[in-house]
Amino acid sequence: MLIITLQRDKCIGCNYCQEVAPEQYRMSKKDGKAVLLDARNRKGFHTVKIHDNSLLEENLKAAEGCPSKIIKVKLQ
Ligand code: SF4
Repeated sequence: MLIITLQRDKCIGCNYCQEVAPEQYRMSKKDGKAVLLDARNRKGFHTVKIHDNSLLEENLKAAEGCPSKIIKVKLQ
């Protein structure tokens, strides 16, 4: 299982995560920040659990390339 967390308020809207992991992220038309799909918001930290480990690579790529370093990926 993957656990992905996005600290959304610090997103600068660069679009990188959506480009490399389109199944996980969409850019919001409202505020221009990334939306982590199906995530729950707890005090600004948006978290989703994913049972498909084949999405690990693209999520790691998003986390590593995010200029704000606000995406965390954990494998459990
Ligand atoms: S890569 Fe990081 S800063 Fe860029 S849109 Fe995604 S979450 Fe925001």
